[in-house]
Amino acid sequence: MRRAELGQRLRELDQAGLIRRRRRVEGPQGPRLQVDGAVYLAFCSNDYLGLANHPALADAVRGALEEFGVGAGASGHICGHTRVHEALEERLARFVGLPRALHFSTGYMANLGVLPSLAGPGDVIFSDRLNHASLIDAARLSRADVEIFPHCDVAALDRQMQASGHRSKVVVTDAVFSMDGDLAPLPRLLALCERHDAWLVVDDAHGFGVLGQTGSGSLAHWALSSERIVYIGTLGKAAGVFGAFVAADADVVEWILQRARTYMFTTASPPLLAAALLAALDVIESESWRRRHLADLIGRITSGLSGFQWRLLPSTTAIQALIIGENAEAISLMESLRRNGIWVPAIRPPTVPTGTARLRISLSAAHCDQDVDRLLNALGELARHPAAPARPT
Ligand SMILES: *Cc1c(COP(=O)(O)O)cnc(C)c1O
Repeated sequence: MRRAELGQRLRELDQAGLIRRRRRVEGPQGPRLQVDGAVYLAFCSNDYLGLANHPALADAVRGALEEFGVGAGASGHICGHTRVHEALEERLARFVGLPRALHFSTGYMANLGVLPSLAGPGDVIFSDRLNHASLIDAARLSRADVEIFPHCDVAALDRQMQASGHRSKVVVTDAVFSMDGDLAPLPRLLALCERHDAWLVVDDAHGFGVLGQTGSGSLAHWALSSERIVYIGTLGKAAGVFGAFVAADADVVEWILQRARTYMFTTASPPLLAAALLAALDVIESESWRRRHLADLIGRITSGLSGFQWRLLPSTTAIQALIIGENAEAISLMESLRRNGIWVPAIRPPTVPTGTARLRISLSAAHCDQDVDRLLNALGELARHPAAPARPT
């Protein structure tokens, strides 16, 4: 883009209701967020278990700070891989029931590292239409052919795989779709991968910590295990900290360790974060009441939301999407809720398809029943007395 076009392009974004404005949050994450001196009841975070400000994690950080200092110094291949990173990788592998794990700085980087390690020119990646942006970018970066399949449509994917003459095939999917909250049909996808001799790459950013009896994620939820599965979990959402990992068969992980450029050419994540994550895993495993309470809140909100004129997407997870449609209307609802002291994000294109702007309500085990009721009452009020669509502020 030329310098002279920038101003006009920004005005166009603004007119389309697509300018994003950040808010400055004071203090720690939690269901109550302080912004500009006011306190909001917030339904915007991916901190599904309420661990982002958990005292056990903070204690672990203080201890690791004494032992390791702040920075990791270099990439994991040089001198940034510490005892606590190694302990975290071993613990993560055991937790998700796979032979080996490799820690990455973020989920975005894990995805950018994993797909190009598994597929390259001449290979094909089959990608669900609603996959996360980081998977879309990772598929492009791999320079493999990319075939988009209709959302969760196993029959269509089967036909596409049948028709493909590629030597090496990868199917990649979110396990829990980040803007819709629904689950990918992993058992049927795995069966297809077996039939067509393909890898199944599963991005469990929104399932890890939440799904499965002990919170170990989508593989436990579906009782799946296979040498074809390459599992990616992220650690900034339910685990409450920052980071990600890939887990798979030992030789697959060894290959990714040798090939993933987003592991090799970046500074290792600070060891104190790895220590916080070990503490987070203790809490995830031992405090199962968090998952039970979250499940109760999900039941409460889905029955409450189903009576409105807006379409609630079917979801049994902490992500509940209320489809509003037009950008301006979604923003107007978000602003009305905000005036009531409630913060729910409006999600617009390109994050979601055009015409499906939505309120993305995310629940946390740190919410209480009354928090959910307050949101339902406020939405009920707005359903009866809709405000005029507002420009974003
Ligand atoms: C958030 C998210 C990521 C990125 O993870 P980060 O650790 O935040 O970089 C990847 N995939 C999905 C599905 C996500 O929702």
